[in-house]
Amino acid sequence: MSNMLDPYQIKKDFPIFSQAHPSGKPLTYLDSAATTQKPQIVINAMHGYYEKSNANVHRGIHHLGNRATLTYEGTRAKVQNFIHARSRKEIVFTKGTTESVNLVAYGFAEQRLNEGDEIVISAMEHHSNLIPWQMLCRRKKAKLRIIPMDESGTLQLDQLDEMLSERTKMIAVVHISNSLGTINPIEDIIKLAHAKDIPILIDAAQSAAYYDIDVQAWDCDFLVFSGHKVFGPTGIGVLYGKEKWLEEMVPWQFGGEMIRSVSFEESTFAESPQKFEAGTPNIAGAAGLAAAIQYIETLGKENIRQHLKALLGYATAQLGAIEGLRIYGNADKKSAIISFMLESAHAHDIATIIDNHGVAVRAGHHCTQPVMAFYGIPATARVSLSIYNSREDIDRLVEALESVRLIFG
Ligand code: PMP
Repeated sequence: MSNMLDPYQIKKDFPIFSQAHPSGKPLTYLDSAATTQKPQIVINAMHGYYEKSNANVHRGIHHLGNRATLTYEGTRAKVQNFIHARSRKEIVFTKGTTESVNLVAYGFAEQRLNEGDEIVISAMEHHSNLIPWQMLCRRKKAKLRIIPMDESGTLQLDQLDEMLSERTKMIAVVHISNSLGTINPIEDIIKLAHAKDIPILIDAAQSAAYYDIDVQAWDCDFLVFSGHKVFGPTGIGVLYGKEKWLEEMVPWQFGGEMIRSVSFEESTFAESPQKFEAGTPNIAGAAGLAAAIQYIETLGKENIRQHLKALLGYATAQLGAIEGLRIYGNADKKSAIISFMLESAHAHDIATIIDNHGVAVRAGHHCTQPVMAFYGIPATARVSLSIYNSREDIDRLVEALESVRLIFG
């Protein structure tokens, strides 16, 4: 059974919305793809950790050390359940999606890549799932190949099969595009990859908060996401990897917490996930992340998706009715992200003008410059919706855009 979420009720869980915007207007936050706002329970969990449990993890024999370790490892179990991983050993904490991708590029792909090999990514990757592979290819004299997309922002997967060969050593694809909103059929892509025994990484930065993730059913090799886009804190993220790959992978940072034994001559390393978590980790971040996952689970992802789907339909219709407004990204399956341009206004002008009305949208290339190049534009304005947004927020956006049109129309 699903229930429609009440965004007005949800907004009350987020203390940031109780403050006024300098314009005196209500704060209309339409930039959740950049980072989501944080509910009070996440803030409380982090606060509570420092107030009641602060100590270092994994070393403490004392009471507080045990509490901190329970907090940190408890979050690992929560994440395991959240994405349905087989084992806690498959969950590595990083500082975010970007670090997770870099870790796989260095620790895994780098070890397997030779001159002339290929890595495949898509035309709509965030720079953090592009540049690590580009740099790796440069180091190894390998080739980066790109799954093309069409004008609607849909990947042309009919071309993928023939792109894959025994030279392909890795595929890395985004689940939901942060600039176009396209939901990619990653289960199909994973099947194509595995038909040729190619490991595949899924960038779930934009999907983890809203879409059911089942790494076992999908059978992906790696999956990455960030805490701050799932209503959790900044500075903590997740790398999921199949146990067999994490065992094979080499660590890329060395120091405390990740060793088995150390002498001046030689060191040996702990098993995964500890071998990838050198140094004191983000324990408060883990406390916050567990609360964020709890918050999502209480709302229910099915309910969240229904709410976002209805809101996306409304927003697309309202924006589509504005004269001179063009939406970029019209794939059949879309998440609640709308990139657009209006008249001759630059995206930054749009964002600046509507900020005077209390409306926050993103303007720029959204760390997807190749997507902008594809459409021959420098930037877009981007609306990204979340659980605390209502139709009223979209009405405010439309009203604010009217003043852009008056200036530029
Ligand atoms: N991938 C996608 C699809 C994203 O939207 C983002 C953040 N905008 C990232 C990767 C990078 O995430 P982070 O900055 O948290 O590392």
